[in-house]
Amino acid sequence: MKPAQFSAASQHLEDIVWLLQAIIDRSPIGVAVIDYEGRYRQVNPAYCALYGYEEQELLGNSFTIVFPEEVRELTLRRHQRFLTEGAELKGEFDVLRHDGARLTVLTESIRIPDGEATSLRLVYVVDITERRLVEDSLRRSEQTYRTLFETVPQGVVYHGLDLRIRAANPAALRILGLSMAEMVGTSTVDPRWRAIREDGSELPVSEYPSTLSLRSGEPVRNVIMGVVVPDRGVAWLNVSAVPVYRDGSLVEVYTCFEDVTDRMMLSRELAQRASTDFLTGLANRRSLTERLVLEWERLRRHVDRHCTVMSIDIDHFKQINDTHGHPAGDAVLAGVAQVMLRQVRSSDLVCRQGGEEFAIVLPDANLERAAILAERIRTAVAAERFGPASSPLAVSVSIGVSAMATTDNAAEIVLQRADRALYEAKHLGRNRVSIAPAAG
Ligand code: GH3
Ligand code: MG
Ligand code: MG
Repeated sequence: MKPAQFSAASQHLEDIVWLLQAIIDRSPIGVAVIDYEGRYRQVNPAYCALYGYEEQELLGNSFTIVFPEEVRELTLRRHQRFLTEGAELKGEFDVLRHDGARLTVLTESIRIPDGEATSLRLVYVVDITERRLVEDSLRRSEQTYRTLFETVPQGVVYHGLDLRIRAANPAALRILGLSMAEMVGTSTVDPRWRAIREDGSELPVSEYPSTLSLRSGEPVRNVIMGVVVPDRGVAWLNVSAVPVYRDGSLVEVYTCFEDVTDRMMLSRELAQRASTDFLTGLANRRSLTERLVLEWERLRRHVDRHCTVMSIDIDHFKQINDTHGHPAGDAVLAGVAQVMLRQVRSSDLVCRQGGEEFAIVLPDANLERAAILAERIRTAVAAERFGPASSPLAVSVSIGVSAMATTDNAAEIVLQRADRALYEAKHLGRNRVSIAPAAG
């Protein structure tokens, strides 16, 4: 090589070195060169800034000062094994800044030759403390959420936009009596899922809280619905559905539910007890009053409708008690109730008003039909034998019948008229039906 050529090549080399140095000096990544003994040979500004040292404080000193005291020796040995044996030396490290603050750094090392026999380590360092904190806190909240999901007593189910179930927690499986395999991936429109309303009517899929919430994008809260569960009858649930948005668009909906079967059964039983006569199982006086008011209001709205009421009293009942004892009297009361129930439609209401007095409300029955039914009840009771099989008792009833009138200014007026007709039937010799003249 001629001197001119040599000078050009060396100039070129110098330019490259200068360029590399400029890149390293301006790099946001910390770069250091460390010799076999662990002494810093070179550090860039980003490295110094990361650890909070001046360049002079580092050059010539051991790199282990950025490590906690207890791991310094080990760290130096790993550094040397990397240089001599090429042992792995990269990853995350917990280190110390000059001011004592703890950092987490991500490092990558490469070996560069240093003369003939030895190598130097070139290390790149990135501060990932922030990222680590964020990751840790995400992990913690993920754990908290998981624990909650796994242990809350409420059932939680995630539905995709196609209504398929994406996830279900253990409580959901327990409440619904289904296994994870039976549940996840299935659809709420699966024929096994039969949902009902509180009144027992079918709840269509289009009205499930999850569907409503998906359709409206709004939460739906506290819907009571029954889910017919295989081999378990109905599970009554209080359901809320909440839409889940990601980046502004609806991605899924989560449904949260609580098993309220016991509560429902208890409140139904209490309601049942409050409206039922204990001895006969018939509706009680309170239900009668409520029903009369309901029918009276209905009649005022629809004048073409009918409602007829019977007042029924067992004849000479006192004698039965006196002759055969109170329990026999009770058996007669229960028996007469059954005879009446057998004669009426399910829409009719048979009540025990008290003592041996009964009433029947016949919605949509005119006086004529009611009179026929009353006669049928009278004959059926007379034909039946009540009480102990050893000494069966024959009894009769007297019945007064009256139709509700639009001119009645209170719901119970019709009952008063039926009572007057009943009194007439008694007066005329009992075991007969008397029809009250039409009101108005
Ligand atoms: P009438 O033909 O005029 O209706 O005569 P009655 O004997 O049926 O009428 P009364 O009102 O004099 O008697 C009703 C009796 O019903 C009196 C009461 O002791 C009896 N009684 C009321 N409640 C019960 C009950 O829960 N069980 C029993 N065994 N008897 C009852
Ligand atoms: Mg009587
Ligand atoms: Mg009486």
